[in-house]
Amino acid sequence: MVKSKRWIIAKIFDGEPKKDDFKLVEEELPPVKDGEILLEALYFSVDPYMRAFDLSGLVGQQMVGSQIAKVLESKHKDYKLGDLVMGYFGWQSHSVHHGDEPCSLGLDSKIKPYVLPDIQGLSPSLGLGFLGMPGNTAYFGFLEICKPKAGETVVVNAAAGAVGMHVGQIAKIKGCRVIGFAGSDDKVEWLKKEIGFDAAYNYKKVDIDKALAESAPNGVDCYFDNVGGEMSSIVMNRMNHFGRVSVCGAISSYNDAVKPKATLVQGMVNRSELKIEGFMVYRWEERWLEGIKQNIQWIKEGKLKYQETITKGFEKIPQAFIEMLEGKNFGKAIIKA
Ligand code: NDP
Repeated sequence: MVKSKRWIIAKIFDGEPKKDDFKLVEEELPPVKDGEILLEALYFSVDPYMRAFDLSGLVGQQMVGSQIAKVLESKHKDYKLGDLVMGYFGWQSHSVHHGDEPCSLGLDSKIKPYVLPDIQGLSPSLGLGFLGMPGNTAYFGFLEICKPKAGETVVVNAAAGAVGMHVGQIAKIKGCRVIGFAGSDDKVEWLKKEIGFDAAYNYKKVDIDKALAESAPNGVDCYFDNVGGEMSSIVMNRMNHFGRVSVCGAISSYNDAVKPKATLVQGMVNRSELKIEGFMVYRWEERWLEGIKQNIQWIKEGKLKYQETITKGFEKIPQAFIEMLEGKNFGKAIIKA
């Protein structure tokens, strides 16, 4: 019998998540039946959606989340011993799953587990970041919705995070001018020096409107919005005619039970004929591999730099989750089992 450690949701989050919102338990796994696989988690992902989605129906159940896991036993033809698998198996060290079934654990994800494609010697942890869901969020959410053209000005926020730093670099690959907003001076320096952003600002310290007047005197053409709220109203009010806004997330208000109000944008949207479109990345599920392959190629060509903040130890998953929401991560927040 294999034992599995699992993090259970002990309480509904109230404001910022806290360590005692989670409880660690251990249980024996059932034997593997036909069609099933036994997995050992190697890497876990902590993501903002875990705070954004309503998990209240899951109190007392295992915490949701994706992981890269190794196949220890297989009774499914598509998986063999030692395969590395990406799946939404939750915060558990070992698990038994049916190889064909999505592991949504109550979320609206239909994503089935899949064996990682050949990632050409790169770290398997990237299957949760640049070569996984956040990477495809940047690739499809930016290119398909913003449709950037060379010479245009792009603004992205949460710019030193997994999706944001990736979007900014794709914008540079496409010949755009890139302005980023992030939450610390270290992040801002890093975006400019290491990732090649044309301008970057600490949104906690600057007047965002003045920063845009300085760095985008001719206006903003594309806005990739990870943050929402008043920052977005300010950026949108500086957009050019036929500007495009890709609404990826609204992390500035995920902890708020009562959502804050922001300055009206409709006048500007109307006058400047802006296109604003929200998306969920699994819209492009059919093209999943295309995004991964393109991102591998850009990494191999040296055009795309990836960054991960790796926390070690299964016991530290809640802490890593809390710290990611606090902005302590550079690039993708990962936990190594
Ligand atoms: P990140 O790696 O960017 O981590 C979250 C970051 O958000 C933190 O590092 C922090 O950076 C920033 N942040 C936290 N609170 C605030 C705040 N109040 N105002 C501004 N920034 C804040 O996470 P991801 O890259 O995984 O996700 C980024 C966004 O993309 C999120 O909104 C997420 O929900 C969304 N998303 C949407 C998907 C979709 O399908 N639509 C798929 C994946 C992600 P800082 O130090 O800069 O504050």
